[in-house]
Amino acid sequence: MVVVMQEGASAEAVDRAVARLEVMGFAVHRSIGANRTILGVVGTDVKGDPRLVETLEGVQEVVHISEPYKLASRAFRPSGTIIIVGDVRIGGDEVIVMAGPCSAESDEQVHATAGAVKRAGAKVLRGGAFKPRSSPYAFQGLGEDGLRMLRDGADAHNLKLVSEVMDASQIEVVGRYADIFQVGARNMQNFSLLRELGRARKPVLLKRGISATIEEWLLSAEYVLGGGNMDVILCERGIRTFETYTRNTLDISAIPIVKKLSHLPIFVDPSHGTGRRDKVAPMARAAVAAGADGLIIEVHVDPDRALSDGAQTMFPSQFDRLMAELRIIAPAIGRSICVEPVVRRGWGVQ
Ligand code: PEP
Ligand code: MN
Repeated sequence: MVVVMQEGASAEAVDRAVARLEVMGFAVHRSIGANRTILGVVGTDVKGDPRLVETLEGVQEVVHISEPYKLASRAFRPSGTIIIVGDVRIGGDEVIVMAGPCSAESDEQVHATAGAVKRAGAKVLRGGAFKPRSSPYAFQGLGEDGLRMLRDGADAHNLKLVSEVMDASQIEVVGRYADIFQVGARNMQNFSLLRELGRARKPVLLKRGISATIEEWLLSAEYVLGGGNMDVILCERGIRTFETYTRNTLDISAIPIVKKLSHLPIFVDPSHGTGRRDKVAPMARAAVAAGADGLIIEVHVDPDRALSDGAQTMFPSQFDRLMAELRIIAPAIGRSICVEPVVRRGWGVQ
């Protein structure tokens, strides 16, 4: 359930209500808003009459959440979650773009790609060092060497870094280099990994599993939130359907659905969502128009020679053009994109 405290309820009254709820056996998660505090209250082994909660001092209202996920529910934070990563605000008015190679391959490749995406207006460098590949014979990533390349590339171009963690044993090393943990589609239901990330102090970008329903995806987010890490970004990256023309079927309708059901920011990955370079820009435009809080896009300075996912990876010039188009689309729905001036080749100064 969600316990909405009265506007202006004192900190002591909130503390007393929390203490009482904990004695009853509930786990309590606070969401402190501008005017009032909302408590996300969950518990399976509760002592006493739960109706007593309504009578606690300072409590305005108790909302029972019928969905199986509670902390991910919109009711817990009706105004939406904003995740702060240094000077980057995820989930606010600005549409945030993460871009970079599928995998880190070399210092040169990472640096050149990071520079190109930064000039186009990306705020976060993406890149994998631990790669979840369908085939054990495919390139598996450079591990810690790759993470170092990515961190250097991000720092050289004043970008934040998102990188995938495949297993709980990698959290420590990935956390030393990356600003945001990525959980891949294949790991969306790796519950021990999700629980461990609940204890981490960095945001988690949680991709939707290839055959996961939206409810299953939100329940996976709940594992991270339940551990106390409230900074989860959901990422729609396409699901498996009967259609074979594209690598996956990008579920654009998931954007408004997630916006309604949850307070968590929703991103879209049109690269894995389509698997084809020429389809990335149209789907990225559609995602922003549908209300996505951000995008994560594969870009490489020489995608035809990329060690992974080259066919779906954009050339920097294509990415540049897409960003210019998004600067026209975002304001039409009351959003901005890359607000500070960016000096770019060919497109002049914005
Ligand atoms: C990736 O981002 O490179 C990746 C492997 O994504 P997904 O988990 O969505 O397949
Ligand atoms: Mn990839």
